Amino acid sequence: MTLLAAERLNKAFGGVVAAKDVSFALAEGEMLAIIGPNGAGKSTTFNMVGGQLAPDSGRVLLAGADITGQPPRAVCRLGVGRTFQVAQTFLSMTVLGNVQMALIAHHGRTREVVARAEALYRNQALALLDRVGMAAEAERPIGELAYGDVKRVELAIALAASPRLLLMDEPTAGMAPRERAGLMQLVANIARGQGIGVLFTEHDMDAVFAHADRILVLVRGEVIAEGPPEQVRANAEVQRVYLGQ
Ligand code: ADP
Ligand code: MG
Repeated sequence: MTLLAAERLNKAFGGVVAAKDVSFALAEGEMLAIIGPNGAGKSTTFNMVGGQLAPDSGRVLLAGADITGQPPRAVCRLGVGRTFQVAQTFLSMTVLGNVQMALIAHHGRTREVVARAEALYRNQALALLDRVGMAAEAERPIGELAYGDVKRVELAIALAASPRLLLMDEPTAGMAPRERAGLMQLVANIARGQGIGVLFTEHDMDAVFAHADRILVLVRGEVIAEGPPEQVRANAEVQRVYLGQ
């Protein structure tokens, strides 16, 4: 089933065309990568899907429902998750506490019931940490973790909102190559295991070609190629303008 459909999205900033008739579809459990040189319009496209930017024209459909121009909170409530960096203020809180907070926020608990909610969401939070391989670190302050492990906790926090679609704008930025492969493999396992769609951008072409089911190539706001990795890799225009071959 089509989980996400972008239909002819357009966005210009002054004279700069950041997205021109960008269309694509994403199925449940599918990993779709958006690649392209700097300034190609990847983040702009992400932000139009996530509600951070309203397109000048075009539509965004989530499971058939038009979510175009809805604010980020509404888009999130409808099942579009996004990985965000852990807020500085939460660094002294434990790994488990951070995931519990995310569950409490998702379920809209008020302050008065937070104490009870914490107990309530403990097992759920531990299960999420287990899914990202971080259950053993549950009681450590998140600020003590290695960078790659923080990224895993951020993934658990995103999963706390039970997303149907995950948006990941350069999820492995700043990570060591070995950590990168591990995180992308984890995301792929979760996506396929639970039928979550994943839209991601990534500079690391090894990670893209290893994990994407399909790749969309943007150049100056336009889709120049789209298809499975082997097909995109073999595309002459992609090789010329993007891979520099
Ligand atoms: P990418 O993520 O592929 O590097 P972006 O979507 O960030 O590309 O940017 C696409 C183009 O739009 C670039 O030329 C960029 O300078 C421009 N752009 C992006 N966001 C804004 C903005 N808020 N205001 C003005 N120009 C922007
Ligand atoms: Mg970007």
